[in-house]
Amino acid sequence: MLKDNFGRAHDYLRISLTDVCNFRCQYCIPQENTKFMPSSRLMQADEIDVIAKVFVDLGVSKIRLTGGEPLVRKDAKEIIRSLSKYPAELTLTTNGTEVKEFITLFKDSGISSVNVSLDTLDKEKFHIITKRNLFDKVWKNIQLLIDEGFHVKVNTVVMRGINDNEIPDFIEWTKTTPVHVRFIEFMPFDGNQWNDSKVFSYKEILDIAEANCSFIRMKDAANETAKKFKPYGHEGTFAVISTMTAPFCSNCNRLRLTADGKMKNCLFSKGEADILTALRKGEDIVPVIKKCVSAKAEALGGQFKGDYHKIDTSKISNRSMIDIGG
Ligand code: SAM
Ligand code: SF4
Repeated sequence: MLKDNFGRAHDYLRISLTDVCNFRCQYCIPQENTKFMPSSRLMQADEIDVIAKVFVDLGVSKIRLTGGEPLVRKDAKEIIRSLSKYPAELTLTTNGTEVKEFITLFKDSGISSVNVSLDTLDKEKFHIITKRNLFDKVWKNIQLLIDEGFHVKVNTVVMRGINDNEIPDFIEWTKTTPVHVRFIEFMPFDGNQWNDSKVFSYKEILDIAEANCSFIRMKDAANETAKKFKPYGHEGTFAVISTMTAPFCSNCNRLRLTADGKMKNCLFSKGEADILTALRKGEDIVPVIKKCVSAKAEALGGQFKGDYHKIDTSKISNRSMIDIGG
């Protein structure tokens, strides 16, 4: 088991398949730089397979594919098929555009839960946030996943003045639809124009929810990042991922691999361990992985703590979210 110096056991690996995306979400991709990595720098399908096996042998029991947009990678199907043979729960986070082509493969690969990002229920606003006019396609694919029996979590980054007014509509959606909406506090990454005033906090989200419906707090699963709530009589649920105002680092079990094969022990870690180069040199990657886990900071990559209003983004050293793999 991969334990860090704070006794946290790590059994969840998030693998970014690509830094390429067919969307340009304003909070994720730096607007001034849309250059993607050359494919030779990316982990190739067979390399992903080998690295994933090492992690599974070290105790990883859940793998999430992410990106960029994981499903726009040309060999995404091959990668999903190959990872499905490991005794680990396989899942993914997607913007939803390509889902229809993957439904059968998801089922054949034992994928039963899918996270789809959707920040607004308004077509025009969707176009403004993502720079793509694809709301209808994403909406239909979310419905398709639900109709096909998948557990669908919808990730919604709440940004003040942009979509905070839609919180009641998202909760209303859960009334007759078995969908699980997760409101995410806006986080700072390289080039995403973050500032504290744009964060719509956990407390503010709950205040709005309370004004609109009655609900109960659900029991947290082990290592849960989302605080989950069940409105009475609703088919679905809503949750809040409160990274900025109430971080959940003390029971974090997550590790990350960027598309170019660098391991990050935290979304906000400064350091990266170069797993891919070690693999390509024929070295044993187990010590590299263990050293990276040991170096994990107690909270938020050691880059900030306390009141998020006081964060100085010029002092944070990290990549952009699209580059790390969310
Ligand atoms: N393209 C896929 C998608 O959009 O679902 C997967 C990659 S995306 C980077 C993964 C998740 O990170 C998405 O749910 C997205 O909303 C979230 N995300 C990106 N930037 C964020 C930010 N600045 N704050 C909070 N969440 C963010
Ligand atoms: Fe692409 Fe997802 Fe980032 Fe949007 S959030 S730009 S869909 S990677």
